[in-house]
Order: sequence, then C-alpha cells, then structure tokens
Amino acid sequence: MTGTVPTSPLRARAEIDLGALRGNVRALRSRLAPGAGLMAVVKSDAYGHGALPCARAALDAGASWLGTATPHEALALRAAGIEAPVLCWLWTPGDPWREAIEAGIDMSVSGMWALREVTAAAREAGRVARIQLKADTGLGRNGCQPADWPELVAAARAAEAAGTVRVTGLWSHFACADEPGHPSVAAQLHLFHELVAYAEKAGVEPEVRHIANSPAALTAPESHFDLVRTGIAVYGISPGPEVGTSAELGLRPVMTLAASVALVKRVPEGHGVSYGHQYRTPAETTLGLIPLGYADGVPRHASGRGPVLVGEKVRRVAGRVAMDQFVVDLGTGPDADAVQEGAPAVLFGPGDRGEPTAADWAEAAGTIAYEIVTRIGPRVPRVYVNGQENSGDGGDSGDGGDRGGVGPQGAGR
Ligand SMILES: *Cc1c(COP(=O)(O)O)cnc(C)c1O
Repeated sequence: MTGTVPTSPLRARAEIDLGALRGNVRALRSRLAPGAGLMAVVKSDAYGHGALPCARAALDAGASWLGTATPHEALALRAAGIEAPVLCWLWTPGDPWREAIEAGIDMSVSGMWALREVTAAAREAGRVARIQLKADTGLGRNGCQPADWPELVAAARAAEAAGTVRVTGLWSHFACADEPGHPSVAAQLHLFHELVAYAEKAGVEPEVRHIANSPAALTAPESHFDLVRTGIAVYGISPGPEVGTSAELGLRPVMTLAASVALVKRVPEGHGVSYGHQYRTPAETTLGLIPLGYADGVPRHASGRGPVLVGEKVRRVAGRVAMDQFVVDLGTGPDADAVQEGAPAVLFGPGDRGEPTAADWAEAAGTIAYEIVTRIGPRVPRVYVNGQENSGDGGDSGDGGDRGGVGPQGAGR
C-alpha cells in the first residue's frame, strides 16, 4: 500500500513526481480548444512544488508559456537559464522593470502608474518593453476597470508609437470559474470580447489573448482564446469539488507529503494529548508521533481532523497540531503493533495507495487544496522523482523512476 512512498531516512519530505506533472500538462493540452497554448503558472515556487524543476518539466511536456506573480519569481526563471516566454503580473511601484525588460519578460500593466514606470524603464534600457494589458472584467482585484480602458489603451498605443513598448497581450481573470455555469463566467467573457475588440480597433495587435485559469480551462472551452493559464491543474489537483476529482479530470496529484514516525508509545486511558489536552485517550492505546507541524505547513485548523495514512490505516490527528509535530492515536491490536519508529506516515498524495489527498486536508482544515500544497514550508525537502522525460509518464510513477533526490537547497528551492 505504501510501496511507492519515499523511504529515505528523512524526518519528512515532499516527493514531487515530475512524470505526473508532465502527464497533467499533456492531459490539459489535449483538452484545449484548437489554437490555444498552455501557460504553466509557477508562482509561489510552483504552488510549493519547486519552481525550476516544475517549469522545466512543464516546458518538456509542451507548455509554451510560464506565468509568475512577482517579478522576482520571473527573474529567477531567467537566472536559471529558462528562455521560454514568461508573463509576470503582480507589479508594485519601484519593482525591477528594467531588469525584467532586459530579461525579455512580458510585464502585465493594469493601470497608468505601471505604464509610466515601464516606459521610463524602457527608455533607460534602450529596449522595447513587452507589456500585456490586463482588464478587470469582473473579478474586482487587479486589472484596469472598463471605464479606464480607453485611456490605458490610448496611452499604450502612444508608447508603441514612441517605440518604448509593444503590447503583446490582452488579458483578464475569472472570479467564479470554479463554479461551472456561474453567470459571472459568461458575463466576464462577454466583456472581455468587447474590451479586446476595442483595443484591436485602436490598433493593438496582441500575440496572445487569455482569460482562462484551471477551472475555466477544464470547464469552459469558449474561454480558451490563444492561451490558458493553468496552475493548480498542472499540479494534478482539482480547482474545487464542483469541477470534479483529480481522477475524473484525468489529473494526477504531483506532491506526496510523508514523514517518518518519530516515536511510538503505549499510554493509559484518559491521557491528554498535545497542547490544551483537546484529545484524551478513550482507552489504553498507542500514540504515534509525526514530526511535522504548522511551521511545515500542516494546518493547525486541521487539529483533531487531518487524515494520515500510518501502517494500513488512515488515522486522524489527535489533539492540536503543534509547530513541529502532531500525534495520531494508533489504537491497539496487530495494526498498531505493526507501526514502529521510522514507519512512513503519509499525509497526502495521489490517493490511489490508500493515502489521503490534499483535497481531503483542505476539507479537514476548511480551506482549498491550493493552500494545502502552497504552504508546505522550506523545512520540508522536496525530493524529485521521474525527472527524465522518458520516466514515469502517463501511468503509475514511483519505484521505477529515477530518484535524483534533491534536497531543500537543490533544484531551485
Ligand atoms: C494563480 C493565477 C492563475 C492560475 O490559477 P489556477 O486556478 O491555479 O489555474 C492564473 N491567472 C492568474 C492571474 C493567477 O493569479
């Protein structure tokens, strides 16, 4: 049951199955509308999976763009020698526009302040900046309000005429695509069509127009345009229960979070467990100590609830999750006796080896699976498996693959 869980003698590790990631990119690409490419979103260290190895694996599998939030994330891709098109969308005044221009990164512009900074940086660099204009079609977050779009488009066209920028893209982002059929999806699409038409009529000739995130890529083909920006689905996780399970979507979770049981001990009935004694043993029992805590990203909100595969059984966190560790009640009997120090404890993985999934942890903690994987901290080494193109694709990955184990300092972490 736990045969493919990494068994190296580490306190804890997040195994990252790059073969599964490549399979996910291929599965997603096979679902895209004709002419649409795939941007692999690798922000926030590839949702906790490791930006560089994941970016490289996604490109190997046919992703044509990479997407990041901050410019520093985008520049780190270039510093590692990745030359694929990169779009970076979360800019703050004073950010390194010039460095991004010199690195050939596409920069999102949502307002006049950003256009002013990017044109100034382009003049200093003596280079044409590649910018993509972002419209707020209803998310109410970043992006230019429709009422301000004519001013932004006119100023961008003027900058094109002055030779400081080239508008390479027009784009937007959905608010409720994870609720298939939500009326805001059609409304945002309609407005996006109008804003794109306006900009094109004003002379903008974008290389790419895009609005779809993972849920829209999976459920709304009419939103695919030239590119979809998929993050969570690349990591094999469903955007949400209403979109389907990973298996239903043809995706395989990429991260397996496992630890080695640090202590097994017998305790009497009525023994309080962990801070606050929120759990008391209902009878004489066996406790297992799992050396992972909220500092590693195990949500404290899952105290008393989070599921963990230990031995042959899924157990629940007993009592509170502490900073570095938590406890499970193994009970008594042969399956408790079979658990010894060093035994694997699997918090989540693909789910087909009896282990819980990140979606199960999201449910236990009252959050989304995005947060579960993204918050796994730097103290947990990422161990990359199936790194080679010819290993582990399209099927059961794991034992057969190369195990170029990479520790916390390696492979771009
Ligand atoms: C994070 C993000 C995405 C990817 O969203 P997923 O739901 O993970 O596919 C796409 N576009 C923007 C602007 C984002 O911030």
